[in-house]
Amino acid sequence: MSDEDKPGASTLAVHGGEPHVRAGRSITEPLVLASTYPFAHTAELHAFMQGELDRPEEYGRYGNPTIAAVEAKLAALEGGGEPGFSAVLMASGMAAITSTLLAMLRAGQHVIFTADVYRKTRVFAQTYLSKFGVEVDIVEPSLAAIEAALRAETKIIFTEAPTNPYLRLVDLDGVVALARRERIKTIVDATFATPINMRPCELGVDLVIHSTTKYLGGHNDLLGGVVIGRGGLVAAIREQVGTLGAICDPHNAYLLGRGLKTLALRVERHNRSALALAHMLDEHPKVARVWYPLLESHEDHALARRYLGGGGGVVSFELVGGLEAGTRLVDGVRIPKLAPSLGGVESLIEQPALMSFYDQGPEGRAALGIREGLIRLSVGIEDLKDLRADLLAALDRT
Ligand SMILES: *Cc1c(COP(=O)(O)O)cnc(C)c1O
Repeated sequence: MSDEDKPGASTLAVHGGEPHVRAGRSITEPLVLASTYPFAHTAELHAFMQGELDRPEEYGRYGNPTIAAVEAKLAALEGGGEPGFSAVLMASGMAAITSTLLAMLRAGQHVIFTADVYRKTRVFAQTYLSKFGVEVDIVEPSLAAIEAALRAETKIIFTEAPTNPYLRLVDLDGVVALARRERIKTIVDATFATPINMRPCELGVDLVIHSTTKYLGGHNDLLGGVVIGRGGLVAAIREQVGTLGAICDPHNAYLLGRGLKTLALRVERHNRSALALAHMLDEHPKVARVWYPLLESHEDHALARRYLGGGGGVVSFELVGGLEAGTRLVDGVRIPKLAPSLGGVESLIEQPALMSFYDQGPEGRAALGIREGLIRLSVGIEDLKDLRADLLAALDRT
């Protein structure tokens, strides 16, 4: 398909994966709450087991029509409307990450993670994978560092795009070429990008993971995760989720499907407001440094220009007065709420040193590269003029 013929992202967000006319004529996907799906008689059961029945469901852990519909939409969005993609929804972003890695790895193998990853992904890599005899290297998010860490046993390269909290990007074309040469699988946690700003599978990445808790759900009212890719790999992960049990719940899937309808609209607003606020902060005398991929000062700006349709809704920055000044700002703003998470309609603000990395102490944080004064702002969909005025007033008071 040429780009002209492909459906656009907002059309896919609204209609992707959906039948034109549903059974029952409902315009929305019905919420099916069923733990099991009875058979009419044993002959039907036989036919089902032989794969002769057009009926996917058997028991709730193996499938649900509401969940299947949302998976189809997610596959359509991440595949840009190309056929051949499938998705598995799970209970959380971490369930998607851990189930995917456990499905693909066995003892004696090696995984390369990039350093600026979600805190619990790092914890899983370091303290759980080792229990199963899987070796791990955590390296700088750069192609050179990834290449240097390669071993004969390397099975997976896992990175985020953009990373949390410094919004770094790796040269994904380079990583994909390297991985194909060495017969290694690539996984990208693209939670921060969303399929609106980047679709790593189009670059040849094997699997994309999202915490649907963030932009895809978009309303801070659900937890979920998804892994998306082509064919066989995803089928193997689905098979395993049926055994490990980290499944999505149908009500959650319904909320996610509803949130997805407005994904493109919301992400456009997040992109626009965050870029404007990043520029504003960058020029403010009380701000020491800003990390936003579409600012020229960002170290991966050239990669951001190549890969990102928009910079996303997260802006990380540091005040001249460090941690204490940052706390005065976080406590001084009236619109963003002090909370972990990101990607919802409500703006959220936090200091990673006092949130996800509180337990690490200053030395632990330094070792992990988390700067004491760092502030992470997740820009919501409120009016830009109000966010701007609120931040400026709070900066004045710090
Ligand atoms: C939040 C997040 C996760 C974890 O997702 P949960 O839904 O909270 O389990 C993983 N990766 C990234 C980049 C995230 O932002």
